[in-house]
Amino acid sequence: MPPPPRHRLDWRRLAWVLAAAVLLNVVLASVWSTGSSSTSVPYTTFRAQALADNIAEITSKGDTIEGSFRVPVHVPADSKKTVTDFTTERPTFADDTVLETLVANDVVVNAKPLSTGTSWWVALLVNFGPALLLVGGYVWLMRRAGGAMGGIGSLGRSKAVRVDIARTRTTFADVAGIDEAEDELVEIVGFLRAPERYRALGARAPRGVLLMGPPGTGKTLLARAVAGEADVPFFSMSASEFIEMIVGVGASRVRDLFNQAKAVAPSIIFIDELDAIGRARGSSASFGGVDEREQTLNQILTEMDGFTGNEGVIVLAATNRPDVLDPALLRPGRFDRRITINPPDQAGRAAILAVHTRSVPLADPADLDTIAATTPGMVGADLANLVNEAALTAARRGHASVQLGDFTDAMERIVLGAERKVILSADDRRRTAYHESGHALLAMLQPGADPVRKVSIIPRGRSLGVTFQSPETDRYGMDEAYLLGRITGALGGRAAEELVFGNMTTGAESDLEQVTAIARQMVGRWGMSSVLGPVSVLPPAGEEIALIGADWRTPSEATRELVDHEVRAIIDRCHEHALDLLRAHRANLDQLAEELLARETLDEGQARRAAGLAVDVAVAD
Ligand code: ADP
Ligand code: MG
Ligand code: ZN
Repeated sequence: MPPPPRHRLDWRRLAWVLAAAVLLNVVLASVWSTGSSSTSVPYTTFRAQALADNIAEITSKGDTIEGSFRVPVHVPADSKKTVTDFTTERPTFADDTVLETLVANDVVVNAKPLSTGTSWWVALLVNFGPALLLVGGYVWLMRRAGGAMGGIGSLGRSKAVRVDIARTRTTFADVAGIDEAEDELVEIVGFLRAPERYRALGARAPRGVLLMGPPGTGKTLLARAVAGEADVPFFSMSASEFIEMIVGVGASRVRDLFNQAKAVAPSIIFIDELDAIGRARGSSASFGGVDEREQTLNQILTEMDGFTGNEGVIVLAATNRPDVLDPALLRPGRFDRRITINPPDQAGRAAILAVHTRSVPLADPADLDTIAATTPGMVGADLANLVNEAALTAARRGHASVQLGDFTDAMERIVLGAERKVILSADDRRRTAYHESGHALLAMLQPGADPVRKVSIIPRGRSLGVTFQSPETDRYGMDEAYLLGRITGALGGRAAEELVFGNMTTGAESDLEQVTAIARQMVGRWGMSSVLGPVSVLPPAGEEIALIGADWRTPSEATRELVDHEVRAIIDRCHEHALDLLRAHRANLDQLAEELLARETLDEGQARRAAGLAVDVAVAD
């Protein structure tokens, strides 16, 4: 194994530094050396002054004489300029008796080496100062780079943050609603704390633990809790930090990280967002940086294989996309422990809300159960955000504590988007009212559809209106009838416009995207097409581009055509159904649209009443 590339000396850079130093030397030396203060005078002037006893002191070396006059002398005699410190050259043929005269006049005569007019330390500074400065600067940069900053001297060094436990004390008490995952990690923490107990029984610590689950379910939070509870050094790094444009650096970072961790074992390495590097090799999903990613990934695999299992280093990783991970990562001996984190159920949501409202004064703690019941599909991050929005809403309204109304309004803001201040023309409002009424009416007419919670023609975000539906309870599977109902409902807006205005607008774009996505999955992933049968011909959502040409599952041209054909057939059928239903309930549609135009926003009960449908039907469902 090559040594970690700490502080590699960069010779090219050093050459540049030296060249710059030499240049600076030349410039500065020429500037500073002109600063000599003594003036050259003719030898005859010197001799005359010596005879006139006007010499204070001289220093000589060879024939050069340097010294000072007692009284400043005009040089030349008729000029205004006076000279005190002088130098002069004694002609070699001179045989005068100046020395005797000087001695007779008690002049100090030095024979020490001639001063150049600058003291030794100035000379030293001139000659070596710039070089010292530059070398010093270089060393400083290297040192700084070696620290947390990253930079020239440390490209290959790991930027992993060794988490200071005292400062970021997240504990398992901060994690709620994902108990199975929590239990597994508690066990691993137990191993790190008391390895003897496990080893005595011949148990081996897992080398790698992979947390998998949708975004916001608390994977990073759970890892932080492990850091807070484990009492061992914890190195945290996100996978994207391994990837730099400079080839080879990601791999050396990995090496460095593992070396650091091994040095202080038992310890934990946490790699967040593992999919950033752990994507299947050879997939064409990313542009550029593929080699780099592969090298980094290979290095992780190598390091994990290098473990004997007794080193006490556990690699914890998290990902939202386990489906795209390289199969090699999932082989035994690597991430052999896999923990799936699912979105919380109702009880879990209540528990998470309880955690996040620990420091929030609530008007009624029982509200949390109500909120948990009405938020299927929300994950921990959503709920944390909801609590915060509700607290903000309560503060804005001057409430002393957070009330249920603050929560529901905050939820509306989050789910539907903030209201937009645009004035719609009367025509646009009418069209929007019919569009949303179409969605809402079809949703209310179809058995088993998610109840309509809110209909509104106030523009929000990108849309001019919304129809918001949410399930009564948590849904764990969707049957064909339900999916067809969703497609029909989503087509209802467009169908209503068609029916009432005889034409269509661009407003149904996102409806159509949604419809197409559902239909494609029904056909290609969930085997709900009798023509194709129960086969999976589509890659998981979002991976279509990555897998084309790279995966054996890529369907043939003929199959893809068949999928397209079936998708179209499903959508056409639902579209016809939507039109039929709306035609049959045209009066209800008109009433609902009128009411919406009058009141802009209708809640569940208001919408049902306006449409002329029994309110208690929803309750009976
Ligand atoms: P992930 O890494 O799975 O995308 P995070 O761990 O970053 O999600 O979660 C973001 C935030 O959401 C957390 O900091 C926390 O405030 C909140 N959160 C998520 N899941 C939970 C949970 N199970 N219990 C409590 N809070 C949670
Ligand atoms: Mg995360
Ligand atoms: Zn629509």
